[in-house]
Amino acid sequence: MKTDTRADATTSPFNIVILGGGSAGWMTAAALANTLPQEHFNISLVESEQIGTVSVGEATIPGIHDFNRFLNINEQELVKATNATFKLGIEFEGWTKGGKYLHPFGPYGLNKNGVPFHQLWLKAKLAGEDVGELVNFNMEGLAAQQNKFSPKLNIPNFPIKHLNYAFHLDAVLYANYLRQYAEPKGVKRIEGQFEQARLNNEGFIQSLTLTDGREVPGDFFIDCSGFKALLIEKTLHARYEDWRHWLPCDSAVAIQSKSQPQVNSFTKAIAHEHGWRWQIPLQNRVGNGLVYSSRFMTEDQALEKLQSLVKEELITEPNQLRWVNGCRPEPWRKNCVAIGLSAGFIEPLESTGLQLIQSAIFRLLSLFPDKHFNQSNIDTYNRFANAEIASIRDFVILHYKQTDNDHSPFWNYCRNMDVPDSLKDKMEMYQQNGNLFRENNELFSELNWLSVMNGQGMLPKTTHPLTRQFTTQEIMSDLQQIESGYSRIVDSLPSHDEFLAMLG
Ligand SMILES: Cc1cc2nc3c(=O)[nH]c(=O)nc-3n(C[C@H](O)[C@H](O)[C@H](O)COP(=O)(O)OP(=O)(O)OC[C@H]3O[C@@H](n4cnc5c(N)ncnc54)[C@H](O)[C@@H]3O)c2cc1C
Repeated sequence: MKTDTRADATTSPFNIVILGGGSAGWMTAAALANTLPQEHFNISLVESEQIGTVSVGEATIPGIHDFNRFLNINEQELVKATNATFKLGIEFEGWTKGGKYLHPFGPYGLNKNGVPFHQLWLKAKLAGEDVGELVNFNMEGLAAQQNKFSPKLNIPNFPIKHLNYAFHLDAVLYANYLRQYAEPKGVKRIEGQFEQARLNNEGFIQSLTLTDGREVPGDFFIDCSGFKALLIEKTLHARYEDWRHWLPCDSAVAIQSKSQPQVNSFTKAIAHEHGWRWQIPLQNRVGNGLVYSSRFMTEDQALEKLQSLVKEELITEPNQLRWVNGCRPEPWRKNCVAIGLSAGFIEPLESTGLQLIQSAIFRLLSLFPDKHFNQSNIDTYNRFANAEIASIRDFVILHYKQTDNDHSPFWNYCRNMDVPDSLKDKMEMYQQNGNLFRENNELFSELNWLSVMNGQGMLPKTTHPLTRQFTTQEIMSDLQQIESGYSRIVDSLPSHDEFLAMLG
């Protein structure tokens, strides 16, 4: 802190206190313990078993491999410890009148002379050719459709060497796993309930007071207390920006059921009249959840609906959840940074919760403070955090806006709502000539946007000028070769169930 002139702010031990032991708390603890030398940094984590965690957050996206590599985690061990399965993408059902589509993790076809593959596919499609579905040119999508899985493809002379995938994992076991990783590296766990924080004259947090009277002093506090945001909001009053007018689903009921006969290698997101529901298969059970807008459906109606839709035997009590889609423009204020649900949340449609946590951790490590808490570090952190979540927001809004569903007031609202200009611009550009452009290192790439725009029925008027160099006949011949090659290779892969059995 600026006024702390008693000790050299860069050499005396730096005490970090994490409040909360959900996925955010233990991911942060694990990453800091892995990076910060114990002789200079003390890390404590306060959590309360009585309060518990949100206990959802089971579908990940491929960025999780970066986090695992960073922690040097053996993924085979992680899969066993968290009852995980493999995820090649998300299947969307009922998001338009068109039925189903896949948003797979991975590229489509092969680019030609610098022209993106989808532009070639679109050119042939606009010329009236029978080009088939875009997913037929995507290895992950084809594998998911047949419930196949293999991380590596050892096929001579074939340019694709691996499939892009993520995991479905048990959120509670994941936090336990990271706790077992972090504690031997020096993280001190304090079981207890937070009551209030003590502040100094400048409004910086000095210590946490627990309900039994214990004090936990620190130099830097990381608020991982979930939706309660006990430090960043209740103590430091950082405001929250509400995006529910663009993302009206603000509630969910989650329940676990016994396994299905076949374990899918993808997440299911199935639309209903007032939102959607997820199906996330683990090795030993399925996570189910009905996401809905509380403006259009009550808790009781949601539970009844979910119970009627899940065919397998239910094995847990329902978990009712409420949130406000949005973000905190200042997730870092003074000597406190919020990570996880306390910093903001975009509903779980594209499984971005854990990804936002890991990128917040990496950003924090790059801009790590000393006791001076340099404001330009804090401002930079906040600027990038805002840009990241805003681009995810736009991507998720697209699924609701770009629909022809008209069977309920919920879908009519979504179809007709105004959307952010940043999203309007992206939609307009694609609509004109199929162009997609990834800005400022945003999380979702052109391929992700393409999957959803195409899947939700957008068809550009024309294509990129560079497609003029290829005739439709040339394109059709390439498409046929790619499609038959890909499908032959996918046919030869083991099923997801077989692959899981091989892992033992
Ligand atoms: C319906 C839903 C579905 C989701 N699905 C996905 C998904 O598929 N994929 C994905 O990546 N993300 C998903 N998420 C997001 C994901 O669950 C969260 O990002 C992740 O679990 C992190 O939560 P957290 O650690 O911030 O909060 P929590 O899990 O709520 O943890 C808060 C911690 O603070 C502690 N705490 C609270 N009050 C006190 C107190 N007074 N004293 C001491 N400790 C206290 C609690 O005990 C707990 O340890 C989903 C979220 C929701 C709501």
